Amino acid sequence: MGTMAEGPHLAVVGAGPAGLAAALAAAARGVRVSLIDSAAEAGGQFYRQSAAALGARRPQVLHHQWRTWERLRDGLAAHVAGGRVAHLTDHHVWFVEGQSDGFTVHALLGPEQEQPVAVRADAVLLATGGYEKVLPFPGWTLPGVVTAGGAQAMLKGGLVLPGRVAVVAGTGPLLMPVAAGLAAAGAEVAALVEAADPKVLVRHARVLAAHPAKLAEGARYAAELARRRVKVHVRHTVVAAHGSERVEAVTVAALDGDGRVLPGTERRIACDTLAVGHGMLPHTDLAEALGCRLDGTGVAVDDEQRTDVPGVWAAGETTGIGGAVLSLAEGRIAGLSIAARLNSRTPDPRSYETAAKARSGLREFFAILDTVYAPPAHWTEQVTDDTVVCRCEEVPASAIREAAGELGAGDVGTVKLLTRAGMGWCQGRMCGPAVAGLARCEFQPSRRPFARPVPLGVLAGTDFDRHHTDSTDPTEIGPS
Ligand SMILES: Cc1cc2nc3c(=O)[nH]c(=O)nc-3n(C[C@H](O)[C@H](O)[C@H](O)COP(=O)(O)OP(=O)(O)OC[C@H]3O[C@@H](n4cnc5c(N)ncnc54)[C@H](O)[C@@H]3O)c2cc1C
Repeated sequence: MGTMAEGPHLAVVGAGPAGLAAALAAAARGVRVSLIDSAAEAGGQFYRQSAAALGARRPQVLHHQWRTWERLRDGLAAHVAGGRVAHLTDHHVWFVEGQSDGFTVHALLGPEQEQPVAVRADAVLLATGGYEKVLPFPGWTLPGVVTAGGAQAMLKGGLVLPGRVAVVAGTGPLLMPVAAGLAAAGAEVAALVEAADPKVLVRHARVLAAHPAKLAEGARYAAELARRRVKVHVRHTVVAAHGSERVEAVTVAALDGDGRVLPGTERRIACDTLAVGHGMLPHTDLAEALGCRLDGTGVAVDDEQRTDVPGVWAAGETTGIGGAVLSLAEGRIAGLSIAARLNSRTPDPRSYETAAKARSGLREFFAILDTVYAPPAHWTEQVTDDTVVCRCEEVPASAIREAAGELGAGDVGTVKLLTRAGMGWCQGRMCGPAVAGLARCEFQPSRRPFARPVPLGVLAGTDFDRHHTDSTDPTEIGPS
């Protein structure tokens, strides 16, 4: 099939499992798709690809479910070659503008993120995934301390190890693949330190038994770690990282039943890398700027993955954390729904019955994981007053405690005004949960008008009210 000059146009933001599955399903049903992603290659976090210039000979050894990736990759290539999908790499979307007759997706192009691009579409799918929750502890700003997903991204994307001797710590199902991946790539993994007690999962045997593939995946990682003699400490936490120029060791300690450090259980482990993660949070900036309702921390969607804003769908971890397979199922449902709705039809639920079944089962499964894998309830007790919490503005824990205590701040916004915590480059994306925890107020994703920092010149030159004419070729886009 040649370039499709006619037909409705969908903009998909995010080329991870969810965005890819949606783009393929929609494009196969006559929708012109612009697949927009900030990365240089499709794949998202789970299928993160290394740059072609690095010449990875066997990239599959760093991945799981490689056959699914091959299917997605080849499907995308066929749709791009057929002119049905325009894959816009290195496009950093900062705002999606809703208009009376559609949407304009505003992006910044290239590594410098200075060249503005606007993509006009009839519908938008937000598939922007999630980001890691980071909690501070003494020494967490030392070079060599990275997030667990960051270590994984270095390995998959850059084919490099963050160091030679690693401790992997925090909580959540991501820690096992990260530890196994680092070990398989040649790092010595001195310890895996998990705050939760996975044995608690046994209480949910009925739900777990319905997911033998997930159980087998967990068992494979556990066997791999055992084979490589990685010491696994459950119900333990890192209380401090030590070093002068960079991390040289960490102190870990056991936790009691309430999530408090048990005095006298501290032990020091030498390492040059600490990969630490405390779970993930959905990316919701673009959805919130569009006015989409949230459900908890994720974007609220209906059975067809529609948000409450007409013309806007959301799929994958932007709607809640649940792994790549759930993202694939949600993406497919969204793609089928979009293809039907853009052609003024109601989608036939039978067309996505299998995906819907997988979706409900996996949502139930991950809801349980969410209750089991939580940061230690009293993690703030380990954060000394001089620990920097907001790295952008260098705000120590003492300032946040003072704001919430003597100065009476009762929410993250007021703490920010009093201390500048969350006012820097990352706009609180990193320190938000930590500030909320230390100030003892509820964490809510802060509403930001733009998802990315935007040069003032770009902002001044963007005509938000301009009426855009639709491009007939999905590859035909121009500066805004
Ligand atoms: C750092 C990290 C590493 C991970 N590693 C693993 C792992 O090894 N194993 C595992 O099972 N799970 C891993 N996960 C979990 C993983 O996110 C999910 O399993 C799965 O990839 C979610 O799919 P998704 O399509 O919803 O989102 P993602 O795969 O996260 O894809 C979202 C895509 O949206 C793009 N994007 C986001 N915002 C914008 C924007 N404003 N403009 C343009 N593009 C944007 C991103 O570049 C990304 O490609 C990791 C998560 C993170 C954050």
